[in-house]
Amino acid sequence: MNVLIIGSGAREHAIAWKLSQSEYCEKIFVAPGNAGTTQYGTTAAVDIHNFDEVAKFAADFDIMMIVVGSENTLVDGIHDFFQNSEYLKHILVIGPKKAGAMLEGSKDYCKAFFQRNNIPTARYQTFTEDTFSQAAEYLRNHNYPVVLKADGLAAGKGVIIAQDYDQAIDALNDMLRNKRFGNASSKVVIEEYLQGIEVSVFILTDGKDYVLLPEAKDYKRIGEGDSGLNTGGMGAISPVPFVDNAFMQKVKERVINPTLRGMQEEQMDYTGFLFIGLMNVNGEPYVIEYNVRLGDPETEAILPRIKSDLFELFRALHDRKLGEFQLEIDPRTAATVFLVSGGYPEGFEKGKEIGGIHKVPSDVLVFHAGTKMVNGKLVNSGGRVIAVTALADTMEEALAKANAAAETITWQDRYYRHDIGFDLKRANA
Ligand code: ATP
Repeated sequence: MNVLIIGSGAREHAIAWKLSQSEYCEKIFVAPGNAGTTQYGTTAAVDIHNFDEVAKFAADFDIMMIVVGSENTLVDGIHDFFQNSEYLKHILVIGPKKAGAMLEGSKDYCKAFFQRNNIPTARYQTFTEDTFSQAAEYLRNHNYPVVLKADGLAAGKGVIIAQDYDQAIDALNDMLRNKRFGNASSKVVIEEYLQGIEVSVFILTDGKDYVLLPEAKDYKRIGEGDSGLNTGGMGAISPVPFVDNAFMQKVKERVINPTLRGMQEEQMDYTGFLFIGLMNVNGEPYVIEYNVRLGDPETEAILPRIKSDLFELFRALHDRKLGEFQLEIDPRTAATVFLVSGGYPEGFEKGKEIGGIHKVPSDVLVFHAGTKMVNGKLVNSGGRVIAVTALADTMEEALAKANAAAETITWQDRYYRHDIGFDLKRANA
């Protein structure tokens, strides 16, 4: 069977790597892909924003499955597009339709879903430009810090944690009046700040049954000790030591089960991955957000821990047999470290030659993100460039291997955090 993967990050490289191990997967295509995905798949020359073009490609290359890596394509309705066509509906699209993708596409919609279904989350209210003065009043009476979120997709940049009223009102003004994130900030969710430690939980669901994937913790800040600006993610660890059976039981009972019930009652017909961003507040899970796809860099840490055939897992989703699927998980710890271009997440230089990948030990996985080949040379072409993942019996060993591999890959001004997992080591001690 031929598969098309949509996306260009290390997440999609990891998906291609994992699918390539399946005996059922014949040809893999990746659109637009990167210099690394060519190792496992052919780069598909299609404009992923033009669904007619994707459909033509799928027909021409006998694609039977489309795995959608990133949220934008889902929010834009790729699944609905294929489902609504007599000729294309047999193609299995991994990812929800528009109605489900709205859980990520609109934070207000998502928060209302939590509320309707009694899912624990931070208290909130949503405001628009017309209700600016009520929002200001709400902020005047709020405890600090407080969290302001642009309603729509803002590539992970639409969340501001304001320490006091002045910062909060500035952020509100910026979002609602100055349209800092365009249409995405025409509504702003103002919510209570939750003090705790974050964890990402993933399921694959057909809207009724689900398979629980390994959890992970990611590191969003650019600087060591979780300082500085937010990034797409600087590293990840899986499993997460504080996620024990008791915590996971609470997540299942209070979050996953009511979510699936809510999806059914609201006829969302949700199929695909659901990424549950949680805050562990003194042992109690609160949902921060839903994403409707896998995370990046979490995917690079969790797929290497899945021993089962990913293609078979997707087929179980298609056949509505997830309830019977026994996922085999490697008990070892996976540590992922992301190498980024110096200056990222602000300005950085592209086109620098990358060296040293061939020196990385063969048991460490290398997943490309912002890379491309120019005149036979591998160069950086984005902010986040390469993720390395190592597996070992302990987190310390996995981190030591991943950090050593990161050190061997070099280009001018490359940067990576040396302290991924620092908080978990402390929690572990
Ligand atoms: P991303 O795309 O990076 O997942 P996003 O734009 O979808 O981000 P959220 O995940 O909702 O936004 O928030 C980003 C980060 O802000 C969270 O990972 C968390 O660290 C912090 N955050 C969000 N909401 C809260 C909250 N209520 N309390 C404390 N921290 C929060």
